[in-house]
Amino acid sequence: MDVDRVSIKDTLGRELRDLRISVTDRCNFRCVYCMPLEQYEWIDRREILTFEEITRLAGLFLQSGVEEIRLTGGEPLLRHGLDTLVSALAGLGGLKDLSLTTNASHLKEHAAGLMRAGIGRVNASLDTLSPAKFRALTRRDDLAGVLEGLLTARLLGFDPIKINSVIQRGVNDDDILPLVEFSRQNGFWLRFIEFMDVGNSNHWVSERMMPKGEILDLIHARYPLEEAGRTDPSAPAVNYRYADRKGNIGVIASVTEPFCAGCTRARLTADGKLVLCLFSDRSLDLKRLLRGGAGDREILDTIRSAWEARTDRYSEERLEAMNAGDYEPGSHRKIEMIRIGG
Ligand code: SAM
Ligand code: SF4
Ligand code: SF4
Repeated sequence: MDVDRVSIKDTLGRELRDLRISVTDRCNFRCVYCMPLEQYEWIDRREILTFEEITRLAGLFLQSGVEEIRLTGGEPLLRHGLDTLVSALAGLGGLKDLSLTTNASHLKEHAAGLMRAGIGRVNASLDTLSPAKFRALTRRDDLAGVLEGLLTARLLGFDPIKINSVIQRGVNDDDILPLVEFSRQNGFWLRFIEFMDVGNSNHWVSERMMPKGEILDLIHARYPLEEAGRTDPSAPAVNYRYADRKGNIGVIASVTEPFCAGCTRARLTADGKLVLCLFSDRSLDLKRLLRGGAGDREILDTIRSAWEARTDRYSEERLEAMNAGDYEPGSHRKIEMIRIGG
C-alpha cells in the first residue's frame, strides 16, 4: 500500500487521482458529435501552455494525489514535438500511468517516438469501418490513415490498444458487429461509448443515444459475453470477456449508468484552465497564476481548494432528470468538448 500518497477529497469523498491534459484544441477532424461548429473561436496560440508550463503543473498535480495522466485534445498529435512533453512528464516522480487519446490519423508517424518517450497506452477513436460513413462522421476522409496508425501501434507492441467507438442509433449502430469482428481479429480492446450531450451544439437527443444494454444484447447474441467488472472503481468502462476468450470489450455508459460516484478525474485545458467535470461551464485559470509568478505553494493550495469544493455529478443529475421526464440538454451551457478533451 502507498502510505505516503496525498489524498485530497471533494465534497462527495472522491479523491483527486487522474488528470487529463488537453495539449491543443486544434483538430484535423470535425466529428459531428464533438465539433459540429462551423464558427469556433480557437484558443490564441499565445494562451496555449508551453511544455514547461504543462510539466510544472503536472508535477503539482502529482503532489496533489494524481497518479495517472492522459494526454488528449483536440487532436494531441497535432501538437508539434509532443514526444518532448511526454519525456518530461514520464520523468516526473509518482506517475504510474501515462497514456494518450488520439484519432490515430497521425499515429503511424508518431507511435514509435511516443513509445520511446514514455507513452504506455493508447486509446484511439474509430466509429465505423465504412469509408463513406467515416467521411460523414468525421467530415474528413482518412479512414485508411487511422487504420494504418492502429496497425503500426500494434506492431510496435502497445498493449492494450483500446478503440473508442461512439454509437448513435440510426447512424452507426450497424457498425457495432463489424467493429467487434475487426477488434477480435486484430487484438484491439474495443470500448463503446454512449453518445453524450457534450458541448452545446451536437444536437443530442436521447433517442439517438444507443444504451449500453442494447449494445451488449446485440453483441451477446453473436458473441456471448461474460461481465468482468471495472478495472478499478474509478474506471469509466465496465468490461466484458468474450466467452470464447478471444478478447474483451468495455462499455462507457455515461448516460444510462453514470459513474460520477467514482469520478476522480480533473481536466486541464490547453490554455491552462482547471475543469472539474466534462459537462462543466466553469473553470479555474491556473495559467494566470503560473504567468503571474505564483509559487508552487500557492498553486498547490488553489488546486486543493478547488477540488475540496467540487460538487459535480452531472451525469447522475441528467439521469435523474431523464427519469423524471424533464431533461433539457440545452438548458445548461457547457465548455465545448474539443476544448476540454474527452
Ligand atoms: N481527438 C482525440 C480523439 O478523438 O480520440 C481526443 C479528443 S476526443 C474529444 C476524446 C474522446 O471523446 C473520443 O474518444 C471521442 O470519441 C469522445 N467523444 C467526443 N464527443 C463525444 C460525444 N458526444 N459522446 C461520446 N463521446 C464523445
Ligand atoms: Fe473528433 Fe477527437 Fe477531433 Fe473531437 S477532438 S472532432 S472527437 S477527432
Ligand atoms: Fe465525472 Fe462529471 Fe462525468 Fe460525472 S459527469 S463522471 S462528475 S466528469
